[in-house]
Amino acid sequence: MIEIIQDDITKIKADAIVNAANTSLLGGGGVDGAIHRAGGKAILEECMNIRAAQGGCEVGEAVVTTAGNLPAKYVIHTVGPVWNNGKSNEEQLLASCYRNCLMLAIVHKAKTIAFPNISTGIYRFPKKKAAKIAMDTVLEVLGTTNGIQRVIFVCFDDENYDIYDELLDQLP
Ligand code: ADP
Repeated sequence: MIEIIQDDITKIKADAIVNAANTSLLGGGGVDGAIHRAGGKAILEECMNIRAAQGGCEVGEAVVTTAGNLPAKYVIHTVGPVWNNGKSNEEQLLASCYRNCLMLAIVHKAKTIAFPNISTGIYRFPKKKAAKIAMDTVLEVLGTTNGIQRVIFVCFDDENYDIYDELLDQLP
């Protein structure tokens, strides 16, 4: 089941929430800052351990940590691509983010997962294009597994909410 809501993702009680992180895993602005602020230092500590072990996280990849003080169980940190006019494989990399987060959720037996609109803030990925990739990739993965019961797209701004609302209406 796919749902869309307009909210702050730090408030969502899902098994896993996704963070639109950066390759350093050390926190940043936007949703990343909000998750670290609300989740507390346990998240950053685990991020630093991952960083020490594997040197951060590559674009399109994902790693998992505790959710600290958040109502979720896990935070899955993924690094979206910075939009470069479509010249740097951004569409494939964004699809990889969604796919890898879902795979990690399945591995951790998370049945509900909430995604922010990865790359559509500071990383400037065109919102409609990003939403289509997000929806298509999630549908594709849900078609191959019954490990995940609910995917929630958490839209923060009105524009993204309207785009997802329209996409959801178009589903068969
Ligand atoms: P990126 O660097 O991947 O673009 P941003 O955090 O700048 O990451 O933005 C990604 C999306 O997250 C944007 O659509 C932004 O509106 C949204 N966002 C920002 N804060 C929150 C929040 N607290 N909860 C959910 N979404 C948020």
